[in-house]
Amino acid sequence: MLRAAREFVMKPGFHTRFRLTLRPLLSKVLEPRVNRSNGNGMRIDLHVHTTASDGLLDPGALVRAVTEAGVQVFGLADHDTVDAIPETLALAEAAGLQCVPGIEISAYWGAIEFHILGYYIDPAEGTLTTFLQGTRKARHTRMRAMLSRLGAMGIPIPEAEVLAAARNGNVGRPHLARVLVEHGVVDGVDEAFERYLGAGRPAYVPRPDVTVAQAISVIHGAGGLAVVAHPGLQNRDDAFPDLLAAGLDGIEVYHPKHNYGLVSRYRRLAGRHQLLITGGSDFHGVPDGDHASMLGRPCLHEADFLKLAEAIRSRRETAK
Ligand SMILES: [Zn+2]
Ligand SMILES: [Zn+2]
Repeated sequence: MLRAAREFVMKPGFHTRFRLTLRPLLSKVLEPRVNRSNGNGMRIDLHVHTTASDGLLDPGALVRAVTEAGVQVFGLADHDTVDAIPETLALAEAAGLQCVPGIEISAYWGAIEFHILGYYIDPAEGTLTTFLQGTRKARHTRMRAMLSRLGAMGIPIPEAEVLAAARNGNVGRPHLARVLVEHGVVDGVDEAFERYLGAGRPAYVPRPDVTVAQAISVIHGAGGLAVVAHPGLQNRDDAFPDLLAAGLDGIEVYHPKHNYGLVSRYRRLAGRHQLLITGGSDFHGVPDGDHASMLGRPCLHEADFLKLAEAIRSRRETAK
């Protein structure tokens, strides 16, 4: 484990702050701990976002919110970026929390957009970082195309405002949606997606540059486990044969938009294919209509989390 941690932090070209931050933390990160001090088992939420993607809280505010919510283990799952991982790991450790380093990669299965979660990834791994630079560029290109569609519809939105909404991080449709709300074009983020930005709507531009198989392979290359996020939202279970063939490791069974029926459907599916089970709140900060989720709701069962931890441990052992 320690040898793996050393290799992880000693990769060339990795900036000093990251190295110093991660060196003492990594072995702990890969060593999930069970803390039943409150007598109720662990509260685990493996799906939270920060300002590095479209969340509203920066790592410091997020860690405070996690603490206040009584969540002891949280998984960082920013869209297509690992930028918040070093700082969040350090702050979580200082606060006595466990942070699982992760990512949520947008990818396509045919014309359908899926989100693939990667857990326990090495954020410095070369193929992953090159891949993320490419997707960042593609996000900018796509945003410009959507803005010109809106412009052609008589809704001029300056690119600089959308980039500012993204705090110059990974720009995406939720940022544009918030700017549309600010301009009074729509009343809320949901309406922005329904009228303009959702798949098939007039300002929508697909980004079919990453396939689900590529996303899974990049996550595996970075030493992580690949989990399909909130499959109930896509509602395309016919994608599973391809996801499984690409080496999918798990299903996000617990998600605010999964009702009881979906939870049991995906628990059964996971059981049938010996897949891991994850879950979390998809927390983006304060409720804003589109992301009304609350930290720790739903939370993942401790037994499912321990299986995930065990899977990553044995994968690292085999990789040595
Ligand atoms: Zn998602
Ligand atoms: Zn998410």
